[in-house]
Amino acid sequence: MKSKKLFRELLLTWHREKNKRTMPWKGEKDPYKVWLSEIILQQTRVEQGLPYYEKFIEQYPTVTHLANAKEEEVFKLWEGLGYYTRCRNLIHTARIVSEKYAGIFPSDYHSILKLKGIGSYTASAIAAFCFDLPYAVVDGNVLRVLSRYFGIHLPVDSTEGKKIFAQLAQECLDKNHPGEYNQSIMDFGATVCKPVPLCKQCLFYKKCIAFNTGSIADLPAKQKSILKKERWFSYFIFSHNKKTYIQLRTEKDIWQNLYEFYLKETITDPEWNARKIKEWLQFELKINAIKNISILLAKKQLLTHQVVHGYFICIDIDHKPLFNSQKGLWINDAEIKTKAFPKFIHQFTGRKALQTQLL
Ligand code: SF4
Repeated sequence: MKSKKLFRELLLTWHREKNKRTMPWKGEKDPYKVWLSEIILQQTRVEQGLPYYEKFIEQYPTVTHLANAKEEEVFKLWEGLGYYTRCRNLIHTARIVSEKYAGIFPSDYHSILKLKGIGSYTASAIAAFCFDLPYAVVDGNVLRVLSRYFGIHLPVDSTEGKKIFAQLAQECLDKNHPGEYNQSIMDFGATVCKPVPLCKQCLFYKKCIAFNTGSIADLPAKQKSILKKERWFSYFIFSHNKKTYIQLRTEKDIWQNLYEFYLKETITDPEWNARKIKEWLQFELKINAIKNISILLAKKQLLTHQVVHGYFICIDIDHKPLFNSQKGLWINDAEIKTKAFPKFIHQFTGRKALQTQLL
């Protein structure tokens, strides 16, 4: 294996002389802010996550403020970021830190790792950035840089690959400057050794195995991707007397504790048309008096293991249907704006007035 010492030295030289990447949480020593930024940035681009980070810090300047917040309020602030398990874990962990640790984040790696929603990557980031502890971060950027520079073709998502790359990352770490080193390799992967890398500007190019063997496009190697489950969500937006029906998702499933419209889920495309909708409404919900119907095909949403497709079907009705549900509400437009919906539904509520007269 090539010299890890040389790799480390070149990387820190690049960071000190050329790294221009700025982010509000860079150089931050407050574990609450580092933790918050890392949770927001999981599966989220920096440009998208940045305004959320700023809103959270403004509304909840300390972990205690977040711990004392109403859950519904936090979900509303998170709305649009997706992957709501992160938000649930955020609230849970804020409460643990506030109650068990008197509002002060634990300062050792293993206690940090025990907190809900914190994996080895986030625990290493907090430990190294805030407490100068020698833990190397391993994220997508780091895996790309290491696999290319050292020319490692082991799939990064295989059991063996995960072990080897974690070990290599730890061996490359500058134990005297763990925070600075971690920041360097993350920034280098984000700005130079990108998916389409800027090799001509890279000070590693003479030593980089991928560059010198023409294997950049093959690295990092991955196992075959798992087939995603397809789901079709048809949302019925029932309007009556300027009020709309919404319901809370309480099941252990995606988007738990968020609101949605009346849902019919299918495993294939229901291919709705006006006739089919009327028949279904009569048969399933005993609704006959329909004033207007309009159908909108939703933009599909890719989740980690699922693809959600769907429809938004707006129905103006004369009488409220008798839904067999304790979790439903009939509310007006102003009240709807205070509820948190999944991103999938936001594509509809964000651009259509709910009371629009529909065809
Ligand atoms: S030479 Fe290219 S592939 Fe190799 S580390 Fe530099 S940017 Fe990445």
